[in-house]
Amino acid sequence: MLVFASNRACRKQGKTMTDYKTPEKITVDHHADGVSCDGGGGALGHPKVWYGFDGKNSIECSYCDRLFMKSS
Ligand SMILES: [Zn+2]
Repeated sequence: MLVFASNRACRKQGKTMTDYKTPEKITVDHHADGVSCDGGGGALGHPKVWYGFDGKNSIECSYCDRLFMKSS
């Protein structure tokens, strides 16, 4: 099962010292094998990448720091 998380804008490129936010957390179905992330697409996005859970319960996108967590 693929989980797409491009519905919300990635904020990494908008970060400033006065606009620092903790990375967005995205909960995915616990049956998911992995996630794809493109940072929300458009100017704030990044190339679409795929991450497999590979036995872990969470994945952090190395582009936009989103944290994908499996639901329990
Ligand atoms: Zn990302």
